[in-house]
Amino acid sequence: MTTDSAIAPETRAFEADVSKLLHMMVHSVYSDRDVFLRELISNAADACEKLRYEAIAEPLLLGEDPQPRITVTLDKEAGTLTIADNGIGMTAADMGETLGTIARSGTKAFMDRLSAEKGTEGQQLIGQFGVGFYSAFMVADKVEVVSRRAGETQAATWSSDGLGTYTIAPADPAQAPTRGTRVTLHLLEDAATYAERYNIERIVKAQSGHVPVPIFIEEAGSEEEAAQVADGAALWTKSRSEISEEDYIDFYRSAAGQFDKPALTLHYRAEGRHEYSVLTFIPESKPFDLFDADRGGRIKLYVRRVFITDEAEILPRYLRFVRGLVDSADLPLNMSREMIQDSPVLAAIQKGVSNRVLSELEKLAAAEPERYQAIWDNFGSVLKEGLYEDFARRETLLGLARFKTTASEGQWRSLEDYVGSLKENQTAIFYAVGNDIERIANSPQLEGFKARGIEVLLLPDQVDSFWTTMGADYKGKPFKSVTQGAADLSLIPLAQGSSEPEDIGEDLAGFIAFAKEALGDQVSDVRVSDRLTTSAVCIVAPDNAMDLQLEKMLASAGRAPERAKPVLEVNAGHALIAKLARTDAGADERRDLAFLLLDEARIAEGEAPADPRAFAQRLERLMTRTLG
Ligand code: ADP
Ligand code: MG
Repeated sequence: MTTDSAIAPETRAFEADVSKLLHMMVHSVYSDRDVFLRELISNAADACEKLRYEAIAEPLLLGEDPQPRITVTLDKEAGTLTIADNGIGMTAADMGETLGTIARSGTKAFMDRLSAEKGTEGQQLIGQFGVGFYSAFMVADKVEVVSRRAGETQAATWSSDGLGTYTIAPADPAQAPTRGTRVTLHLLEDAATYAERYNIERIVKAQSGHVPVPIFIEEAGSEEEAAQVADGAALWTKSRSEISEEDYIDFYRSAAGQFDKPALTLHYRAEGRHEYSVLTFIPESKPFDLFDADRGGRIKLYVRRVFITDEAEILPRYLRFVRGLVDSADLPLNMSREMIQDSPVLAAIQKGVSNRVLSELEKLAAAEPERYQAIWDNFGSVLKEGLYEDFARRETLLGLARFKTTASEGQWRSLEDYVGSLKENQTAIFYAVGNDIERIANSPQLEGFKARGIEVLLLPDQVDSFWTTMGADYKGKPFKSVTQGAADLSLIPLAQGSSEPEDIGEDLAGFIAFAKEALGDQVSDVRVSDRLTTSAVCIVAPDNAMDLQLEKMLASAGRAPERAKPVLEVNAGHALIAKLARTDAGADERRDLAFLLLDEARIAEGEAPADPRAFAQRLERLMTRTLG
């Protein structure tokens, strides 16, 4: 074996762009330095993949060492971290071309963005970017690369302190890897933890647990054998028949950091215009942070088995409970995350995966309603956000939605069920919103609906106040609140056993006119109710105002415009109302009674009387009179 004198040691200056990048790397306060390891392992895995590919045509390249592997060696004493692979390797010329220039188009674009931005914004950009080989200088003040290209006898060394120049020299073949590359980082003082085994193990598992090459960790000078921390098998690339339920559960647990089991596993490969694999899970239990405002999606994006980002927002927010990953075969590996966000390939993936998750839920709902309902139990309130966020899929989401209703006896009902049992002349889907199912079910506004056997959806979630006001309809039936506007129930016959209220008569009309006058701007109307059968009164929102519940919610968040004046509805069939109609009490007394009716209705809504002191005084006067 001879050393070729043609490659005598040579020191060169970095390309201007590289110097700029290195400067930024070293001087920026990088938010997450751990990513350097992801970059180096991803390069090592790439090298193994390249060899794998070249060996298809030239099997001899594999020699006696056909199994790809990545070995991470820690030397606490020397303060070094070494990443070695038996991949394709580099010649001295390769090194000159690749480790001194910026070849990646993504990096160029990144640099351009960076020079356009100034100051801290530029630094934030770095954090969003796959930074490549040079990121080693975030944690090291000297980087040494020794490599031997597959099939070559020569080996070469590249080394640099990252300060403007690098040196390429022949390497002693006896000290160089038989094949592949060894990257040694001389760690900065403040990066000493990167020589700690627990730390490196944690980072490798978290960032590179699913690279397609097995990864081993060993400690210099230790008798112990290298321990495998990643097996190099990407579960999602296997066919479903090769994967056991246990495999899926283990993967789900390690990938999602969950302890439960998946309630639904979705694993498929999309082919055609875009190729990608999908492995996603719906958890069996509700994560505690499901409603945190800044909780992002949990779908990881891989490109050809290399983890890219978990911030690609592959699924819409209302599917944020879905865990798992998408592995694209089309996206370029080193595209910046921002560029990925804007890529049409990602858009196609987002659409495809979202539709597939929903259609899978539809299938489950049809085939195994109980399993589906368990999912709805946990995540229905999140899915309903889609009813106002995702107009294009509203129809689908309404189909998936399940509700407790006045007729469901605690069970879930679909809108299809609901529409299938509409009453004669019923043209709307009625709903009642509130905080608590029991209380909604007992609200006075529901009485007339119950008397007619009309089913009412009971909606206890915050989002229900919103999506119901978006003008949605299901199969041509609009949604209508039972606490808003005229109920118009008179066309729908009463169920057997209930009797039609007697004609309202002149007396009642007289009292209503009096009450309206007396209550003045406290109400927007006083009228006879369709919706009451047992209670004497209730309040509802006027036709074109906000529904009562939404108004209350916004008011409690300090966001409501002035509250609309309610409509006071009276039950013409109620004994109290009949007596009021015929009473010969004086005007003052009748005025008190009108106010008490309004406050009674408010209290039944769980609200306080408009003027608690005046209410107390009226009540006292009434009680005094009663006692004679
Ligand atoms: P990228 O991986 O996007 O190409 P990097 O900055 O990470 O960019 O790496 C630059 C180049 O250096 C790679 O494209 C590859 O040619 C070469 N390289 C880096 N690490 C290795 C390695 N372990 N084995 C072989 N080549 C490598
Ligand atoms: Mg790379």
